[in-house]
Amino acid sequence: MEKYGGNPLLECIVTKFGGSSLASDEQFKKVRSILELEPTRRYLVPSAPGKRFREDEKVTDLLYLCHTLKSDGKPFTDEFAKIRERYESIARGLRLKVDISAKLDEVEEGIASGKSRAWCASRGEYLCGLLMADYLGWRFLDAADGIVFDDEGHLDDEATQQKLSAILADGLSTVVPGFYGARKNGEVCTFSRGGSDITGALVARAVNADVYENWTDVSGFLMADPRIIDGPAEISSITYKELRELSHMGASVLHEDAMFPVHRAGIPTNIRNTNKPYHPGTMISKNAPNEVTVPTITGIAGHKGYSVISVEKNMMNSEVGFGRKVLSILEEEGISFEHMPTGIDSMCVVVQSSVFEPHRSQIISRIEKLVEGSGSVSVSDNLSIIATVGRGMVHNCGTAARLFGAMSRARINVRMIDQGSSELSIIVGVNDSDFEATIHAIYHEFVG
Ligand code: ASP
Repeated sequence: MEKYGGNPLLECIVTKFGGSSLASDEQFKKVRSILELEPTRRYLVPSAPGKRFREDEKVTDLLYLCHTLKSDGKPFTDEFAKIRERYESIARGLRLKVDISAKLDEVEEGIASGKSRAWCASRGEYLCGLLMADYLGWRFLDAADGIVFDDEGHLDDEATQQKLSAILADGLSTVVPGFYGARKNGEVCTFSRGGSDITGALVARAVNADVYENWTDVSGFLMADPRIIDGPAEISSITYKELRELSHMGASVLHEDAMFPVHRAGIPTNIRNTNKPYHPGTMISKNAPNEVTVPTITGIAGHKGYSVISVEKNMMNSEVGFGRKVLSILEEEGISFEHMPTGIDSMCVVVQSSVFEPHRSQIISRIEKLVEGSGSVSVSDNLSIIATVGRGMVHNCGTAARLFGAMSRARINVRMIDQGSSELSIIVGVNDSDFEATIHAIYHEFVG
């Protein structure tokens, strides 16, 4: 069954389609039939055409390459020809009216004339939006006229909300290309890679959508990494806070920055699969409403490659400001820390090894000075961090016991434990060599 089909309470859905959903004329046809299934799908934010098959190239990558070649004084004709062919074949396949060849000429001239890297990259979405608007018979809104960046090149959230909501207030079905916007002086800026997700969230907020649908090539989030767990269960419902914890630890389907605008506005995001339009996907919402049963855990995610800086000092516990001094050394070296479990006279700071490495000796010698004569510093590497996340933990006692029981049966040594007061996640640190085994143990304990 179509998830919202015929629901009279829903008035407006914003859709964002990722690159693989727009990679060919056949994919464009799927997009149109998805829109036809639900007339309240009235806004569409496209990415640039992505890969049609594994070895294929993404248009955005080709555009970046053209810009680099031009900047190095090399010809970019062959690469641009590939871009041209992608758009022209979609336009041909759908018999579109828009003169896409003329638009492609403008882009090619722009690159040749030395336009900025952001401008070049943004043309992927711009051209795709033009094709889509023509195909659907919808209005095209150039994102440079609706998404506002400040002088530093960051999103101007307030100005964007004002501008977009004013333009879209007429309720006309509109295509807004993703990934870019412009400064007040008209100069084009882009978000970081995958940033069309952010544009979709901004449009959803501007029109106060009932749902922000993010269409991609997977049916939502999985409870664990399928490279580690064979056929992990799908997550049908998750809160924004849970997702934030999981995506920080590596579960990436949605751009991290795309969650904030919709989360704050109370708009749910639904991750859907363009190739399986009837699959309900994953619904991300503020409170995961209407739940009959809440699973104890929602998902597991983790990363290898952390280092633990352990600091011991006599009477550390009673020394006001000691922790701050340690952390300010990290701050001054430009390092953000992940976790900080403390003991009575000891503290540990967990950092990503790749970020820590270039500053290692400097940081150690600075902390050594701090504890001189009354303490010591040591670093141990090869730590993995695994977050087990679940809003269901709040209602279930014994979750930690089950988790650690499963780890002990699998003979895994726990090197670190961290549980936030929100009771939303339990974080464990283990040796890198135990990473996969830990995820297996936890997954099978809770999911079976
Ligand atoms: N096309 C851009 C990229 O490849 C943005 C996006 O797809 O969201 O990163």
